[in-house]
Amino acid sequence: FSKIPKVSRDLQSRVPPYAKLLTNLEKVHKITNNEPLTLAEKILYSHLTNPEESFGGSSGVSAFRDIRGKEYLKLSPDRVAMQDASAQMAMLQFMTTGLPDTSVPTSIHCDHLVVGKNGEEYDLPKSKDANKEVFDFLESCSQRYGITFWGPGSGIIHQIVLENYSAPGLMMLGTDSHTPNAGGLGAIAIGVGGADAVDAMTATPWELKAPKVMGIKLTGKLSGWSAPKDIITTIAGKLTVRGGTGYILEYFGEGVDSLSCTGMATICNMGAEVGATTSLFPYNDAHRRYLAATGRKQIANAADVALNEYNFLRSDKYAQYDDVLEINLSELEPTVNGPFTPDLSTKISEYAETSLKENWPQNISVGLIGSCTNSSYQDMSRVVDLVNQAAKAGLKPKIPFFVTPGSEQIRATLERDGIMKTFTDNGAIVLGNACGPCIGQWDRDDVPKDTKQTNSIFTSFNRNFRARNDGNRNTMNFLTSPEIVTAMIYSGDAQFNPLKDSITTPEGKKFTFKAPKGEELPQNGFEHGRDVFYPEADPKANAQVEVKVSPDSDRLQLLEPFKPWNGKELKTTVLLKVKGKCTTDHISAAGVWLKYKGHLENISYNTLIGAQNYETDEVNKVYDLDGKGYDIPGLMMKWKDEHRPWIVLAEHNYGEGSAREHAALSPRYLGGEIILVKSFARIHETNLKKQGMLPLTFADEADFDKIASGDVLETVNLADMVAKNGDNGGELDVKVTKRNGETFIIKAKHTMSKDQINFFKAGSAINYIGEQRRN
Ligand code: SF4
Repeated sequence: FSKIPKVSRDLQSRVPPYAKLLTNLEKVHKITNNEPLTLAEKILYSHLTNPEESFGGSSGVSAFRDIRGKEYLKLSPDRVAMQDASAQMAMLQFMTTGLPDTSVPTSIHCDHLVVGKNGEEYDLPKSKDANKEVFDFLESCSQRYGITFWGPGSGIIHQIVLENYSAPGLMMLGTDSHTPNAGGLGAIAIGVGGADAVDAMTATPWELKAPKVMGIKLTGKLSGWSAPKDIITTIAGKLTVRGGTGYILEYFGEGVDSLSCTGMATICNMGAEVGATTSLFPYNDAHRRYLAATGRKQIANAADVALNEYNFLRSDKYAQYDDVLEINLSELEPTVNGPFTPDLSTKISEYAETSLKENWPQNISVGLIGSCTNSSYQDMSRVVDLVNQAAKAGLKPKIPFFVTPGSEQIRATLERDGIMKTFTDNGAIVLGNACGPCIGQWDRDDVPKDTKQTNSIFTSFNRNFRARNDGNRNTMNFLTSPEIVTAMIYSGDAQFNPLKDSITTPEGKKFTFKAPKGEELPQNGFEHGRDVFYPEADPKANAQVEVKVSPDSDRLQLLEPFKPWNGKELKTTVLLKVKGKCTTDHISAAGVWLKYKGHLENISYNTLIGAQNYETDEVNKVYDLDGKGYDIPGLMMKWKDEHRPWIVLAEHNYGEGSAREHAALSPRYLGGEIILVKSFARIHETNLKKQGMLPLTFADEADFDKIASGDVLETVNLADMVAKNGDNGGELDVKVTKRNGETFIIKAKHTMSKDQINFFKAGSAINYIGEQRRN
């Protein structure tokens, strides 16, 4: 693969190792007898630590067919990115390994802890002050271990990754569920917990069950009001929040060519909302243009050779998808998804009627645009076209309007091109380059925090679980394109359809928006922005730097390793049966709790506080064996003190949502041993295994109804399962003892691989990695 051109020194850590990947892929082609591969398979399999082992010794068509959805792959990712909230626990775990530096290029991004209220100038100093201890900790970790540190105000992790690190054929892990955003530039980028990131940072093979591949065929062409956001909100409506579970979504078809690279990133970003492992697009001209515009033309040149000379970065002609979904972009209509779930999809032409029928608020209270999902130049130039149209007609926004730029680079470019000024002249509040309202860091003052009255907000964000944006469970949050959010702020009325309805101007005339127009990329290139927000590129580790954690801190706490398995069967008491949807936001709430991400004991007071008790319908309420009521973490702590291990039962897609590993760490810390559910969301199930918990699913879902809180559940043949090294999944017998003494056996399923059994035995994945290093 000698034709792959070399890149200059400053880009060396950012170009995927094409020659190495192609060498690996050649081995895979041999094993699979040159069966045609999808793009997802090519990139994933080219990152196998050892292709021969992953294909289980089989070869030819059977090797090719048997791997998807069955075998565990051991992978060597090229890069790691972490956001400030999850990086704390990842770094605390990394520190326990005693290694001097990270094995792959790694970056930390301070974005989640920045609160939005009045604008960057006012908000950023306050947030820096409030989180100084955490930012200092992350910065000192970065200096010590050679990590690139993007400080507060520099931007949102996924936008910065797209602008700097994502590249066609790259494989990266990110400690955030929207890491797949980088798939918009042809990377396989997967959202994981901190313990998985530590695998990559310590060059420990990272395990993933070989995903199935769903082909999403895009036909036709986007035009008019329809935007990339509408593609994914439409797909979410079709696939639902569980439809992508176990799949990589691979886009193909002529419709791809009508999309910008940033538009593709929006689509990949929200693949997380259908539970997909990740999403990606094939390398094309839009990627070449974006790489060139962001100072990485040499990477495009290398990718071109990998594509044209060696047939990498695209799927093979007769590649087979496990499923195919077709979307005709020419027929696509703007879509509004919500409230409370990203898959409740309503076409804009039906929104007015549906909102009346469903009793959704008719007054929209706030519009918010930007975030990692939708703050590209294309998004903002289309939005400003609408703002200019309205301003020309003498209109002002009727409701508060917030703009969150994704990075300093995009903010500075929008400022240079007058777009920011148009926003602020028209009443918008431009928040800092950070997550802010998207993750509950919104100091909202237009509605009382504890109000029981519903209100409705329109956002261009990606997620809309209850209480996500402002901590208020009664805020109905609707996800749509930035164009639709912007048009709606001029009416503030749920009955308004911006595609056809008019607004009366101050002069009494009728004004109707024309479809927005924008530019894919800034004509004058991207502006660098303020130097203060840029880190040193490729920093070297410095063992002299001391990483300080005060024993009195309420924000940071050094980790005590979890105890290893004692070799006995697990005997647990049912603490809670959860009713319905239970996302990682329900299990480990964000908002005000984000500040305790580095302090396991303190954050554990949020465990499952959003969960609804199946038996009583109460939220955050459980009952001890004597009938006394507690909040959920309260009873967990009590039972921990009493040495009464507990189990939680739940329904489908438990742990849906984010890669939040605290949703696994806290239950483990509080004495939980088993989570038994009807089905799991992938990342959360893996996170539970990494923390040494036993995630099980009901072999017969009807058994859920036979068990009540206070019943005792005991594994019967766990020792056999461990002795068999997991066998990559299987069944386990669980003995149920009801409170009246009646007993029966139920069957539960597990998906533990050999390595995951080792994590369980060692007490956690980190314990196991530490053991391996010491031996
Ligand atoms: Fe930040 Fe929201 Fe993007 Fe998550 S989804 S990275 S919280 S902007």
